Amino acid sequence: MPKKEVSLDVTRVENFVFDMSRCVKCKGCTWVDHVYMPGVKYSTRCPSATRYLFDSYGAYGKMRIGLALVEGRLEYSDELLKILYACTLCGACDVGCKRNLDLEIELTLEALRVKAVRDGKGPMPEHRKAARSIIEKHNSLGAAHKNRKGWITDGIKPSPKADVLYFVGCSASYTHPEIARATAKILAASGTPFMLLPDEWCCGNMLYSVGMIDEARELAQRNVDAIRQTGAKTLLVSCAEGYRMWKVDYPKILGISTADLGFGVVHLVEYVDEWIKKGALKFANRIDLRLAYHDPCSLSRLSEPWVPWAGTRGQWGVVDPPLERRRGTHGVYQPPRDVLSSIPGVELVEMPRMRENAFCCGAGRGTREAFPDFAAWAAEERLTEVGEVGAEALVSACPWCKDNFAQAVNKNQGSLKVFDFSELVLSAIGREG
Ligand code: SF4
Ligand code: SF4
Repeated sequence: MPKKEVSLDVTRVENFVFDMSRCVKCKGCTWVDHVYMPGVKYSTRCPSATRYLFDSYGAYGKMRIGLALVEGRLEYSDELLKILYACTLCGACDVGCKRNLDLEIELTLEALRVKAVRDGKGPMPEHRKAARSIIEKHNSLGAAHKNRKGWITDGIKPSPKADVLYFVGCSASYTHPEIARATAKILAASGTPFMLLPDEWCCGNMLYSVGMIDEARELAQRNVDAIRQTGAKTLLVSCAEGYRMWKVDYPKILGISTADLGFGVVHLVEYVDEWIKKGALKFANRIDLRLAYHDPCSLSRLSEPWVPWAGTRGQWGVVDPPLERRRGTHGVYQPPRDVLSSIPGVELVEMPRMRENAFCCGAGRGTREAFPDFAAWAAEERLTEVGEVGAEALVSACPWCKDNFAQAVNKNQGSLKVFDFSELVLSAIGREG
């Protein structure tokens, strides 16, 4: 095999022809690895393949479809676009595949969406509507930009200048202000001054996730420049989707490493874990709850730092220089567990599918906008696991997870409580900041 120039650039789907053509249809991307499989009941990790029960919807189907598109053997159709977009880009397939083969499945799925947009076929009409809102109103929810700081109540006092900048995100700014308020109060309780961006805009998660790469890049550059101008050393987020955007996808689309951003990207769970361990925060209140923690995909298996790579692929697919694969192993799994289990009264229980094998909540990356039924189904599927382990409450560390789970509980008139990590921590420290 003659050597070929390749890179991880998702704007060139040709970079992933090898990955698409080497899928052996073993379905390691769909089944939870047998070593961790708790039984037959929760044995799949791919929401799309589990919901639609047809091979085209699994990563193996998408790899074959992608290859046929690149080779001109297949035309776009409504069903084909549904296959490309009724997928939460949750990365479960990617870590599953890399248990056996070093194929870049997640990047291929992203590259196929970029291609669909460039071919004038994608994204879905609902995505275009949300994209218009991001571009015109700087949020994905159609809300008025002037209300973005409406979450700030009397006791919350951001500093004009601080080392830590809290990037709130669209969901916590508008639909879940309780998360933004709790985060600000936890920061105050730990004695950490924080500032906000003078004019915060959406992170652009949906733009990137649906393949609108040019619009996403423009927004990424604007946002990164805005943070650099503030001189902040640390960008703190309380949203998992935002965490992945800032830490992984901004560097990816700007062609730099995470380390080259010029500031660190930290999720609240990491900060609180550190503060608890060094005694800067203490839990004063008991919370008597049997609690299940849901790993948000973008805080866990999708959150490893980004390092650009370009080189050659030669005989037997060997790449040169060596490429350190992102396998999801170094995601943020333990900090939220350590924090939650140290709250007096909390009994933290694990669901059958956890950590790298966690089942996506179904909300993210454009799924709920275009396929609300699928998003609701994924949340309900996850809730059966919560019931299975007898938890009284479900906690995640992302407003999108909270929103999707809470809606599923309400729809079924369930009694399960759904919390964000920030709310439980604030209750446990017992301070109002
Ligand atoms: S695990 Fe990888 S090689 Fe196996 S079917 Fe899935 S995508 Fe293909
Ligand atoms: S990203 Fe998630 S939903 Fe999409 S194919 Fe992979 S495992 Fe399935």
